[in-house]
This record gives sequence, structure tokens and C-alpha cells, in this order.
Amino acid sequence: MEHQELRKNLFYAPKNGYDRISEEERRGVFKTAEAYKAFLSRAKTERDAAMATVELAEADGFVPYSRGMKLTPGDRVYTVNHGKSVILAVIGRDGLDTGAHILAAHIDSPRLDLKPMPLYEDKKELVYLKTHYYGGIKKYQWAAIPLELRGVVALTGGGVVNVEIGSKPGDPVFTITDLLPHLGKDQNAKTLAEGISGEALNVLVGSVPMAEEEGADRAKLAILAWLFEQYGIREEDFLSAELSIIPHFPVSDVGLDRSLIGGYGHDDRCCAYSAIRALFDINGIPAKTAVCVLADKEEIGSVGVTGMQSRFFDTFMEDLCEGFGIPLRACYEASSCLSADVCNAFDPIYAEVSDPRNSAYANYGVSFMKYTGSRGKSGSNDANAELVGTLRTALNNANVVWQMSELGKVDQGGGGTVACYMGNRNISTIDIGIPVLSMHAPYEVIAKLDLYMAIRAMSAFCAMED
Ligand code: MN
Ligand code: MN
Repeated sequence: MEHQELRKNLFYAPKNGYDRISEEERRGVFKTAEAYKAFLSRAKTERDAAMATVELAEADGFVPYSRGMKLTPGDRVYTVNHGKSVILAVIGRDGLDTGAHILAAHIDSPRLDLKPMPLYEDKKELVYLKTHYYGGIKKYQWAAIPLELRGVVALTGGGVVNVEIGSKPGDPVFTITDLLPHLGKDQNAKTLAEGISGEALNVLVGSVPMAEEEGADRAKLAILAWLFEQYGIREEDFLSAELSIIPHFPVSDVGLDRSLIGGYGHDDRCCAYSAIRALFDINGIPAKTAVCVLADKEEIGSVGVTGMQSRFFDTFMEDLCEGFGIPLRACYEASSCLSADVCNAFDPIYAEVSDPRNSAYANYGVSFMKYTGSRGKSGSNDANAELVGTLRTALNNANVVWQMSELGKVDQGGGGTVACYMGNRNISTIDIGIPVLSMHAPYEVIAKLDLYMAIRAMSAFCAMED
């Protein structure tokens, strides 16, 4: 063979997706992004994401699942777990003993949660909410930006109110103040991690003292009076609340070529959206039953009743299997799962943290990660070579633009996903995700092409016959 021919046959060289797709596909990339932007604009917390998912699913013909429901191939069902996680399924032609195609993503994102006793007044008449951050954040990024308050409060004597302040036109927003640079000498000498401490993440919510009032905490009283009037909330009700402070940023195109999307919570709502879209895009009856699980609590270890370690997933799968007289274990051992979670996009500004030969690049397509973890792959699922091979073939046959990567260079750090918890269930699992710039920041960035290819990859997976 000529050397040119050898190069072509033997080398593996990923290419920018825009050098590989047709004009028509390019239009598809930008159109898909608009639908996702609408979803992300609504899905600002896991509860919001669950609700937005249910609405889209019902519009697509999915119906609520109940235990004992008689199902036949082609049926589309969903179930919601405590309002914070969702499972959707499309029943396949082949029995569940031949396995299911499972897509797992998470819909919680790093944020600031209110403490149980958050409200206080400080000198002079400034009122704050104390927070405890949720997930891995860089604390300094949360100061001096506009913030929203969202969540639920279970009131004294029953009833739950939904709180949503900051997102509607004309709403006030909130903020965490930072120190002026003029007085920043001591702060500047600290490390980035220490510059703003966890206990300094206090959200400014008011400043006017209650009129004709002599006692202490007059401004706090005025804020409480407002909360009671609007929502019926008393101070004690904060004890039974899930209130989150999230960034107040619109989901926007980034860049003059509009190729990128900026917004809060791409991790992991871009993969969650890709997964539900892949299920919606199934026409008629798939060979294998397709299941999509959108879990909560991934950012704090997949724990709790709504996390991926919870039995809620097994319970749903067992109910499905029971309906067809299949043991759950037979279904699991024949199933395969894409653990759909974002990865870091190579950032040339911070190139030193990555191995450029094994990094995911924005616009190079959805990225597989054979393993994640840290310090010698610890905590990783590490997919079987055979599974990677099967998927590689399926994606190539479907002309999906994809890449393979790992998170950062060896011993730089690392991260985990829900993949290991699916692996623990004896479900063959691999990580796949959309590369993100500024991951875990209040404003994250993804490439539209990678989102589009994530949906295409998941669709190709769901269409696999064996
Ligand atoms: Mn994630
Ligand atoms: Mn994350």
C-alpha cells in the first residue's frame, strides 16, 4: 500500500464535527438547540426539570405508570419519584429477559441551598439568607451575580407552597456581595478556595426596617411580613423547606457564530434532555425496551431516596419485569446502559490540566468515557472493551460524530457519575456525555453540535437490535 493509503487506513484522527456534517444536519444542530434552550430555561432545579420532562413526555403520548398495569410493546409510560426524579419507558418487541436499553442522566445541579434557619438581620438593617452549598462549586463564582430563589416550603399545619422569585419579568433578584478591590488587600492574598468562604455565601434579601417598631430585627420582621403575606410562610416553616438559590442568567447563544449555548445547569440537564429526546424519537415499537432514568442527588453522591443508588429504579424495573413474568436479574444481566453525564471540554486557557491526546473537544461530538474516577481510576465503572466495541460500531454506522476522552490528566483530579451504580446492578454500562466549558460554574457552556450528536448517539443506542 502507498503510505497515504496506510495513513488513511491505520491512523485514528477525530475531526471537528462541522467538517463532517451535511448542510441539512447543520440546520438540525441549530434547530435542536432551540428546543433544548426552551427546556433548560424551565428546568432550573431538579423539581422543575422533572415537571418539564413530564409535560414533554405527556405531549409525546407517555402515560403515568402504575404497578400492575398491563403493558404491550409500543406502550410509553413514565413515573415520578418524589417530584425529583423521573423514569420513562418505551416497551419493546423482545422480552425483557433479552435486556433493556437504559439511558441514565441526572437533573440536579450544583447550587446554594438555604440552611434550615436561614433568615437573619445584620448591621445595619441588612437582611440575609444563610446558605449551605450543594455539590462541587467554586465559591467565589457565586458572589456579585444576580440570583433567584426557588423551591418548596411545607407549611406549619400542612400544605406545600411553591416559591419562585426572580425568574418572572419584573421580579426582584438577589445577590451575594463581594468586597470592593480597594479594600481587597487581605482577600487577594488568600487562595481562590478561601477568598470567599462557605459561611460568607449569605444572600442579600432586604434592607428596610419595619416602620413604627421599636424591637430588634426590624428589617427581618418586614421581610417575614412580606413572606407571610405572599406565601403564608412563618420563620419556623424554613425548617421544612427545600429552597435553592440559583443563578439568574438567561439561556443564550454564545459567540458570533452562535455555535455555543451558555446557561446554568447544563450538567446534567443537557444529557437528560438528550436522553428524553432519544426516547421521544423512537418510532413505533423498538426491538428492546428503552428506559430513561433521570436521577437526583448525583452532585452529592447519588444518595437518598431520589438518587441513583436508591431502590426506586429497581422497583420500577421489577414492576415492569413482573408484568411479563421475567425475573429482574435476568433483565439486568442482559441490559446495557449509557450513563449520560457531561465531561470537561478541553479548555486551551487551562490546557495544563489535561492530556490533549485524551481530552474531549467542543464540536468534536458526544464523548464516550470508558472510565472516570480519580487517582488510578478509583470510583470508576470502567466499561468492558466489548461494550465499547459494540457501541463504537453502532455509532459509526449511524454516522454519529463522537470522541473518546478522560477527565483531565492523570492525578490532576477526577470525578464520578452514576455509571458505577448501574454497574453494581450488573448492568453493562459506559459513560457518555456532552463536553462542557466552565463546568459547575453558575454559567456553563456547551456546543450545539455536541448536544445534537448526544441525541443521535442515544437514538442509535435505542435502535440497536441486540
Ligand atoms: Mn454531572
Ligand atoms: Mn456535576
